[in-house]
Amino acid sequence: SADELWEVTVTTVALKDVTKVFPDGTVAVDAVNLDVNDGEFLVLLGPSGCGKSTVLRMIAGLEDPSSGAVLLDGELANDVPPRDRKIAMVFQDFALYPHMSVEENLAFPLRLAGVDPAPRGERVSDVASALGIGDMLARKPSQLSGGQRQRVAMGRAIVRRPGLFLMDEPLSNLDSGLRAELRAEISGLTRELGVTTIYVTHDQAEALTMADRVAIMRRGVLQDVGTPTQVYGRPATLYVAAFLGSPRMNLLEASVYVHLDRYVALHLGEQALYLPWNDIRSRAVAHYHGERIVVGMRAEALTPVSPEAPGDVLRGRIRYLEHHGHESLAFVDIGATAVVVDEMAGPVDGAPGGQRGLRRFGQVVQRITGRGADLPG
Ligand code: ATP
Repeated sequence: SADELWEVTVTTVALKDVTKVFPDGTVAVDAVNLDVNDGEFLVLLGPSGCGKSTVLRMIAGLEDPSSGAVLLDGELANDVPPRDRKIAMVFQDFALYPHMSVEENLAFPLRLAGVDPAPRGERVSDVASALGIGDMLARKPSQLSGGQRQRVAMGRAIVRRPGLFLMDEPLSNLDSGLRAELRAEISGLTRELGVTTIYVTHDQAEALTMADRVAIMRRGVLQDVGTPTQVYGRPATLYVAAFLGSPRMNLLEASVYVHLDRYVALHLGEQALYLPWNDIRSRAVAHYHGERIVVGMRAEALTPVSPEAPGDVLRGRIRYLEHHGHESLAFVDIGATAVVVDEMAGPVDGAPGGQRGLRRFGQVVQRITGRGADLPG
C-alpha cells in the first residue's frame, strides 16, 4: 500500500563538514555544517554558482560529498542511493511526462510503487484539489499554463507524502506575479503538510518571505543561518549585510575610543558620535576600544531629524531623493561617504541640497583586521 511506501519517512537533515570538490578542482561546497529541523522551511540563498544546488543534490544523493557526512534522521546516508532516501525533489524545469494527462502524471509515482487503483485515485484527487488543479486532471501538460504545470510537478512530489521536500528554484521560469502567488501557496502547503522543506533560490524576496530560517552561501561557504529577521537585522558577516536588502545596508567605517565612565566616541570619517556611557549602544562598541570597525545601519533604522537637533546626530547634505511610494529614500553626504535614509521615518521633509541630521546608529558588523572590504561585487 501507499503507506508502506513511506513507512520510514525522513524528516531531518544534518550536514557535517560537507565538502564537494569536482574533478576539475572546483570547490563547489566548502566544509558546510547545517541542521535542518523537522517541519522546518529552510531556504538556501546565494548568488549563482555559490553551491546551493550542489548542497541540495548531495542531500538527495545525486552527488557524492568529497568529504564530510550527510545525515538523514541522524543516520549516515552518504552511501544510500537516491531512490532509497525517501525524499521528494522538485526542479525548476517541472519535468512532467508530456504524453501523460495530469492525472496520470500525479498517479505515476504511486503506480511505480504498486499502489492499488482505488487508493491511488483517492490520493490523486486529494492532492489535485489541495493544489487547485482538480478540474484539469484530463489535460496534457502542453494544455496548462506555467503555474499550473508547476502545481502538477509539486503534486507529483507530495503525492507520496514525503517527510522531506527539496526544491531547486521551482519558480524561476515563471513571471513575477505568478511567482508571488505560488510563493505563498508553496509555503502554505508545506506547512499544512508539516513537511520539512529545503528550498534553493537566488531571490532574496523569496527567501525572506518563505523561510523559517535562511542559510546564506557564498563561494561554497555558509555565511549565516537564521530567521529572516535575524539575518536581515543582525547579519553575521559583512557579505550578508551588503547582500541582503534593498537599499543596501549603510556600512560605515569607524574608530572607537572609550573615555572611561564618561562616553564612547565613534569617529566616522570627519564626524564623530559621542554616546553617553549609560547608553546601551556604548556597551555594544566599547570592547573595540582603539580599533576600527564597520557599523551597519539600515536606511529605515536611521531617523531623519533637523540638522540643528542636539545630541548624537550625524550631519550631512541631501544629494538627491528617490520616491518609491512606500518609502522615500534620501542619499545624504556625511563627509567621506554617503548614507541612505528613509525620509518617511522622520518628522521633517527634506529637499535636495538641504541639510539633514540623522539620529541613531546600527550595530557593529565587523571589526576591520586586514585590508580590503569583503563585499559582494
Ligand atoms: P545556480 O543558482 O547558478 O544554479 P548554485 O549556487 O546552485 O548556482 P552550483 O550549481 O551548486 O551553484 O555550482 C557551484 C559551483 O560548482 C559552480 O562554480 C559550478 O560551476 C560548479 N560545478 C557544478 N557542477 C559541476 C561539475 N559537474 N563539474 C565542475 N564544476 C561544477
